[in-house]
Amino acid sequence: MRGRLAPSPTGNLHLGNAFAFLLAWLSAAVQKGALVLRLEDIDPDRSRAAFVRGILEDLAWLGLTWDEGPRPSFHPDRRGAESAFFPEEGAFGPYRQSARLERYEAVLQDLRRRNLLYPCFCTRRELRLLASAPHSGDEGVPYPGICRRLSGKERTARLAAKVPFSLRLDTARSMETLLRETPGATEGSLLSWNDAVHGPQVFTPADCGGDFALRRSDGVFAYQLAVAVDDAAMDITEVVRGEDLLSSTPRQILLLRLLGAPLPRYAHIPLLRDAQGQRLAKRHKGLEVRALREAGFSPEAVIGRLAHLAGLRATPAPVPPAGLAEGFSFAFLRGCAPVADFSRP
Ligand code: GLU
Repeated sequence: MRGRLAPSPTGNLHLGNAFAFLLAWLSAAVQKGALVLRLEDIDPDRSRAAFVRGILEDLAWLGLTWDEGPRPSFHPDRRGAESAFFPEEGAFGPYRQSARLERYEAVLQDLRRRNLLYPCFCTRRELRLLASAPHSGDEGVPYPGICRRLSGKERTARLAAKVPFSLRLDTARSMETLLRETPGATEGSLLSWNDAVHGPQVFTPADCGGDFALRRSDGVFAYQLAVAVDDAAMDITEVVRGEDLLSSTPRQILLLRLLGAPLPRYAHIPLLRDAQGQRLAKRHKGLEVRALREAGFSPEAVIGRLAHLAGLRATPAPVPPAGLAEGFSFAFLRGCAPVADFSRP
């Protein structure tokens, strides 16, 4: 069994992340598996080296250890400045997405050769207008394939005129390819999985955004692509993450199938909310692990409360992560709606 912790260094570690990471850690511990720490710094506009350091330190403080990936020790560079470099351990590195770009490019090339990609010239404004159309759910309306239907001539003209473009996956053609190549597969089975918390899930491409982008028009690779490529390359067999990513999973499954990679098991866990029912976000500064640490909480006190919220313990009494592993199962999470109240240490 190989699990992963996949923080994005776009902010400090908050309790919502810690909740998901505790559960991923427990699942790996109870299965005697290996845990990979992968830094999802794919978006250069939002990722900061200083957050990397803070996240690694906070995880180590909580006692959530990992077997492969960057070590939590901090090495200033020769000028003594904040460095983005952390020594790594493990055979599946590099463990920073920013150092894996040629892998994502190689997969794009392969999909392009199989005629499964097309350039999309739609501007953000045009896409926003689409998204505000009636009946758009969480994912907005699925991309209606405007640029998929461009004639070859029109496409060539726009490329020649250097109109910026993103690259989208042709999901209909991808599904046809998979149906042809996968014995016994049906439309309904290709993008389905049995979630360890939510039970059986069945999606169509239209349920999760339609033809989704794999590379933005500024050249940044999309989250969906990077995660699918890395989960496959790092032999990840179990993905534990927040249920806000539930509708990303069918897109990643589609990519994994196109890569010919086995599918991991998925567990999408309930999101931690504040007393008003809002999901924890960057603005909840007081619920950052760092802030709790400074407010006098011990790591065991934080873990004990999170375990209680997850339904793993009857009381929020302090406990180290290892004290929770015995008998751990995602079944405890079914129907749980965790509210974070950390007003007193
Ligand atoms: N890096 C993502 C996040 O911090 C998690 C992605 C994943 O687990 O697949 O929200």
